[in-house]
Amino acid sequence: MPNVDPRTVILLAGVMSSFMALVMFSLNRSYPATIKGLREWGVALLLVAVGSVLAFGFGSLPDALAITLPRILFPTGLFLTYVGAQLFFGETPRYLPWIALIVVTVAVQMWFTFVAPDYSARLRVSGALSVCLFVAFISLVWRQGLTSFVRLLTMGVLASMCAIVATRMVTTLIWPAGANIYDATPQHLVYLSALSVFILLLSVCMTLLAAERLHTEVAYLASHDSLTNALTRRHMNGVCAMELERSQRHGHSMALLIMDLDHFKAVNDTYGHLRGDRALVDFVRKVNVLLRRPDQLGRFGGEEFVVLLPETSLPEALAVAERIRSACDTADAQPHCTVSIGVATNSQGNDTVDSLIARADAAMYRAKTKGRNRVETAE
Ligand code: GH3
Ligand code: MG
Ligand code: MG
Repeated sequence: MPNVDPRTVILLAGVMSSFMALVMFSLNRSYPATIKGLREWGVALLLVAVGSVLAFGFGSLPDALAITLPRILFPTGLFLTYVGAQLFFGETPRYLPWIALIVVTVAVQMWFTFVAPDYSARLRVSGALSVCLFVAFISLVWRQGLTSFVRLLTMGVLASMCAIVATRMVTTLIWPAGANIYDATPQHLVYLSALSVFILLLSVCMTLLAAERLHTEVAYLASHDSLTNALTRRHMNGVCAMELERSQRHGHSMALLIMDLDHFKAVNDTYGHLRGDRALVDFVRKVNVLLRRPDQLGRFGGEEFVVLLPETSLPEALAVAERIRSACDTADAQPHCTVSIGVATNSQGNDTVDSLIARADAAMYRAKTKGRNRVETAE
């Protein structure tokens, strides 16, 4: 360890941070704008990179650049990483208290640099601010729930960084801290090296969190209709196939409702396409209110929808269908738009999703020919 040069460690931390800043900025450009915080993470890493390179120049650069500026850049970088995480998780950052804390900390460090030089006091002051930020950061991630491996990993990295800084603060009380950041005592080298590695690990965690969010958003877009938020036909087919298999295995009854809005072309022609779109959204909202938690609503295309009712008998399914029909048939609704519904259950042992849909569809067309605004059962 004594052969490791602190200057090299600091420079390497700067190089890694600038590379990760580039990664963050390019992710910020390519990821959807709904994924927030990437720009703040990029700027934070850039500040750490600049601070490291300036600190590397200690001795050849003026003290204001090599000492004062990095003291401001490092905690600001950590604060911005926290701000980015708050934006990423949809919380509103509070800037003023933290900026005030950073200003006071930097001022005290300046005192212990130029007025009463004391490196171990400086380490304790800057360490205390970092620990506060890490604790706030950890509690932010905790509040989101440790629901994925990436969140667990982020939590582990943050807790480790907090422990490293806190341990270094304690070691200043036990062992001499040296004169400055280039002190080559083993404890200081371990501290610098560990912190550099964990800066890299934390930025990797940030990119993984963003990738995880992108995956969630893409999966949602693939499975939900963009206008009404009902499930897409493809996704609904998969859900129905799984439920049918489960029902057949356990000998349960499941039901499918095929629903087609009546004279919808006339709604568009009379009120315009936008009002027609809104009527589709309203219909989905009304139906969702009437469904139970395991029920699923999908849009099969145009003004045609399907409802899957797991573990539901024919009389129960008819009752649900009738509730939906009457909820749409309200005189005060503008545009007034009724619905015809066909109901089928997996009464035949060899039913497939296609045969169930076909029977429910046939029942729905019977409802149309019998005058619309009705519920019909499959034969
Ligand atoms: P029926 O009672 O026989 O079902 O008559 P209908 O007019 O509802 O049926 P038709 O199949 O003739 O017309 C369906 C209409 O639904 C035509 C189409 O413009 C409209 N439509 C399909 N998708 C959308 C959409 O996303 N938004 C809007 N506004 N209209 C849509
Ligand atoms: Mg229709
Ligand atoms: Mg139709």
